Amino acid sequence: MAKLSSVFGMKTFRQNQQKAIITTMDGRDVLVLMPTGGGKSLCYQLPAICQTGKTRGVTFVISPLLALMSDQVQSLMQKGIDVVCFSSDQSDETNTEAWRKLTGKRKPALAYVTPEKLESSDKMRDTMRRLYDNKELARFVIDEAHVISSWGRNFRTAYKHLDRLRRDYPDVPIMALTATANKKTRKDIIDRLGIGNCEVLLQSFNRPNLHYTVRHKRKGKLGIEDMATFIKSEHPNETGIIYSNSRDKCEEVAKELREKYGLRAKHFHAKMHNEDKRRVQKGWQDGEFEIIVATIAFGMGIDKRDVRFVIHYSLSKSLDAYAQETGRAGRDGQPSDCVLYYGSSDVNTLINQIRGDEDLSQEDKRLQINEVWQMAYYCLNDVDCRRAQLLAFFDQPFDPKDCDASCNNCVEPKELKQEDVTRQATNAVKLLQSMLEREAHITQALCVNTLRGSKSAEVTKKDFDKLPLHGSAADMPMNQVQRLFTLLYCLSAFDIHTVSNGNWNYEYMKVPVKSLLYCHC
Ligand code: ADP
Ligand code: ZN
Repeated sequence: MAKLSSVFGMKTFRQNQQKAIITTMDGRDVLVLMPTGGGKSLCYQLPAICQTGKTRGVTFVISPLLALMSDQVQSLMQKGIDVVCFSSDQSDETNTEAWRKLTGKRKPALAYVTPEKLESSDKMRDTMRRLYDNKELARFVIDEAHVISSWGRNFRTAYKHLDRLRRDYPDVPIMALTATANKKTRKDIIDRLGIGNCEVLLQSFNRPNLHYTVRHKRKGKLGIEDMATFIKSEHPNETGIIYSNSRDKCEEVAKELREKYGLRAKHFHAKMHNEDKRRVQKGWQDGEFEIIVATIAFGMGIDKRDVRFVIHYSLSKSLDAYAQETGRAGRDGQPSDCVLYYGSSDVNTLINQIRGDEDLSQEDKRLQINEVWQMAYYCLNDVDCRRAQLLAFFDQPFDPKDCDASCNNCVEPKELKQEDVTRQATNAVKLLQSMLEREAHITQALCVNTLRGSKSAEVTKKDFDKLPLHGSAADMPMNQVQRLFTLLYCLSAFDIHTVSNGNWNYEYMKVPVKSLLYCHC
């Protein structure tokens, strides 16, 4: 334990770190669930350098993220720890050196590998077999273990084959770590790795110092103006990240913040040259400028402690991703803001991206589209405590009374007009079903128009104006009917074709909807 301060320069353990370390050093399997920034790396880095008794040998860290791997390897080397890395993006020289070390006499404490390398390289398999036979394989660490779950978005085939670890090396302890905590993923990880008897270390995913707000994008560029005003008044000269899902938008937003509002902002995205990326990232990290406008390519493995705000200028792909992205704010424990700008067109953009992704199976598409609707629902639900909504997603109950006015729904409980729209909702679903009987693909706009009794060419062409429910919501304003449909999709979290099969799921996000209450300001 002396190594905690001498090597890592830390005074005390954070929650569950010590338990995780003791469990793995004892030779048992462990699943560690910690929010982003919770301190997962220490859980395996410290045991890796304790070469005594049972824990002697190399700790293999399997990580899907090259950037994260190289950051960690760098920082471990600086601490004087013997570590090697096998990845596709390093020079042949470095690779040769890594092999030399791993097969040499004095073994490194840690070896970082990608799951692909582990699976496809015979040399790696032979080497591991030899280490195993010589009792020099200390443990396997599966970082970002949620990737293993087929439910997860970033599904990687090679991660699926990690079940071999337990079969091939039955008595080598496994440590799996993730910042995703929902029950289904948890069960998937345990099943797939074959670690049924593992210790599960779960802690609250609540980040009390983060303040959550959702704002609605208005037409035009009001989002950017609003953002600039917010930053200037709440976080002048403070560090922050703005996420946007398109590269062009990143450049545009950074430029406008700079030129129109005098804020020190730069953009970052995957298509930039490596050299530019490094420069921008370093500049931001060293405080040369405060605001980075980036796609989600930015942030993995970044460890800046004083990020005071994370703004989403477009929707995250899922609530899980949202929690991870916002998790990069306030690692130092100081109050920080997480603001999301919601625009309904962002929902469509994401869904179209998923539909057009040829690498995804039909089932994966369906799951991912569900996640987008869940995300949309978080934005549209301007009644329930946002913290409670996020934690509900992670299967963690949270009493909104404890939010302590730190989300915009708790701060500004609105004067809401609440209506029971069960009748309209039922009509909407029935109408949609009868439209789908005639036409395989129906757009939301067409549904809305038909429900409101439009006689437009598009409606009459298919005789939709002859349907019994045509015009049944003629008394509801357009924007409310639109919102009703969006809400229905969110609540079903199924795509439109599934709805037509009568597969209607009212039980969503722990809110059993018997009758549908619809709120508008
Ligand atoms: P995660 O992988 O869970 O997102 P990290 O392992 O990167 O988190 O740790 C986040 C930050 O917390 C790092 O800056 C790390 O140095 C710091 N940290 C981790 N454990 C401790 C500790 N026991 N005491 C002080 N700082 C810690
Ligand atoms: Zn709240």
